[in-house]
Amino acid sequence: MTLRTIKDIEIANKKVFVRCDFNVPQDEEGNITDDRRIKSALVTINYCIDHNCAVILASHNGRPKGEPDPEFTLMPIAKRLQILLKRDVTLAAEVVGDDATAKAKALKQGEILLLENLRFEKGETKNDETFAKKLADMAEIYINDAFGVSHRAHASVEAITKFFPDDRKAAGFLLSKEINFFDRTLQHPTRPFVAVIGGSKVSGKLQAIYNLLSKVDKIIIGGGMAFTFLKALGEDVGDSLVEDELIPDALRIMDEAKKRNVKLYLPVDVVCAQTIEAGAVTICTTTKEIPIGWKGLDIGPATTRLFREALDGAQTVLWNGPMGVFEIEKFAKGSFKISHRIAESHATKIVGGGDTADVVQRADDADEMTFISTGGGASLELLEGKILPGVKALEIKK
Ligand code: AMP
Repeated sequence: MTLRTIKDIEIANKKVFVRCDFNVPQDEEGNITDDRRIKSALVTINYCIDHNCAVILASHNGRPKGEPDPEFTLMPIAKRLQILLKRDVTLAAEVVGDDATAKAKALKQGEILLLENLRFEKGETKNDETFAKKLADMAEIYINDAFGVSHRAHASVEAITKFFPDDRKAAGFLLSKEINFFDRTLQHPTRPFVAVIGGSKVSGKLQAIYNLLSKVDKIIIGGGMAFTFLKALGEDVGDSLVEDELIPDALRIMDEAKKRNVKLYLPVDVVCAQTIEAGAVTICTTTKEIPIGWKGLDIGPATTRLFREALDGAQTVLWNGPMGVFEIEKFAKGSFKISHRIAESHATKIVGGGDTADVVQRADDADEMTFISTGGGASLELLEGKILPGVKALEIKK
């Protein structure tokens, strides 16, 4: 797919609407605890400013219920943007009310206006065209730089694109970088291409695994989802997380892998406990001998060695999903060791999913990865082979 990017259209001296993803974690007092998403939007915003545009920024934050709620105001984000951009950022009192439309109308070149939380309006998540038109009427150009919500058919992501002709809408730098990385990796990977898939359940990643089977040379499966595969092979998985109804799918995936000559790796030993808590007593056993009442919560040392060897020589690695309950230190070792192995490899290393990004961060490996995706749900849909609604409208049709 070829995406129309901000560089492909004429934006100089225009009024530009930029859909950003400023959905950032905050503490109880509303202080922003991680501003990576704001920082990653700066390239596009600065590009607009450098081209003498009047810039209207819009984002959601948290899950307000379609009406104004002070708990979810974008005020802290406006303040942080102001510091990062070293420029004034005006926050509108609402999204499309009198204050917002008047401020948008009066906005001059070089000035920045941030609308209030898009989800203060019911029309946003309903992809409502009347609401989308009100947003569209504020500007001459539409830029989507919100990869994290591009899999959602929401008004500021999808419906709004109907009100701009092709030469007035495009992807920002962040969105195009995300799409290009996944597109290039999935369509033209340097081989061997190894996918490392983990996380809690098979159900969440079933389509992604099916899709990856036609693209990868090896697939490594860890985390809770491995137990459905192991049970399908007749192993005793004790009380580990299993989705019985997906055992036929697990068998089909293993069969399909064999037919396609894709090497599929599963854990051979696990760290088990009877409860998922920091103080739990743990044992390490082979996956054939997990006692009843115990659950596998991390990959064991033999599995770590096996997975590390399977990663030897990889030229492209795609990682989505932790190898265990990494939130608890006792069950984090496997995920950290795999993170270190991927980080030290010379492959192109792509990390997708919020939890996996968190593992990489905690393992202090973030700087070594080639690319860490900012959107969990959106990146998973790309792995499933879907075209995201927010991206489809910005595609250059052949
Ligand atoms: P996902 O959102 O599907 O990528 O799953 C991430 C979650 O999977 C994390 O919160 C982990 O704690 C959890 N997880 C990983 N391994 C296991 C396991 N063996 N048993 C239960 N949960 C797990």
